[in-house]
Amino acid sequence: MDNNIVWHCATVTRERREKLNQHKSVVLWFTGLSGSGKSTLAHALEEQLHQRGGRTYVFDGDNVRHGLCGDLGFSAEDRKENIRRIGEMAKLFVEAGVIALTAFISPFTDDRKNVRKLFADDDFIEVYCHCSIEECERRDVKGLYKRARAGEISDFTGISSPYEVPENPEISIDTENSTLEVCVEQLLEILVERGILLQLTRKSEESLSVAH
Ligand code: ADP
Repeated sequence: MDNNIVWHCATVTRERREKLNQHKSVVLWFTGLSGSGKSTLAHALEEQLHQRGGRTYVFDGDNVRHGLCGDLGFSAEDRKENIRRIGEMAKLFVEAGVIALTAFISPFTDDRKNVRKLFADDDFIEVYCHCSIEECERRDVKGLYKRARAGEISDFTGISSPYEVPENPEISIDTENSTLEVCVEQLLEILVERGILLQLTRKSEESLSVAH
């Protein structure tokens, strides 16, 4: 570490940002196989939170793999670095008062554990999107399973690279058998239970419908 780096003492603290936002910040770390519903669910939840006036941001392959992590591939080492960078980035967003949602396969337990270590216990919610490989392959949203089976993609999670199921996620969502609406509802519930949403929950149904 460079000893010449001096930290400035910010007067605008996380607490003040949270007060202004009327909700706490947190990271929802979605993990699961490709096609299990991480992005769909993260964006659907974000939509609901946004309509309630929440400050949110979804990190997914689209906005991270091309830029911040554009130099990384899919080897175990690169995946590890990919997850590390996303973790650090999410941490900054949490400091900034945002509800950060990350949608990455993040297949390795160790990498997820390392990310978890960056956060205080209350700031990290691991969301396991539980969906069988058969269903993910049937969905094949991006046609990647077909290409992986044809040998065109190496190190493909679930086919030629392992997915290590989370042992103790804060929440496990059955994205195979439940509707998207039910899954979003379960996530909203956990945010309410954990006191993240504070005043946001008090918005009326009416104000929700006009925002769309
Ligand atoms: P991932 O981000 O995990 O790779 P995607 O969100 O891109 O997965 O794709 C998941 C697919 O599964 C989408 O086509 C989505 O419409 C469908 N799907 C069906 N049920 C659900 C559910 N309960 N939650 C999330 N996605 C679902």
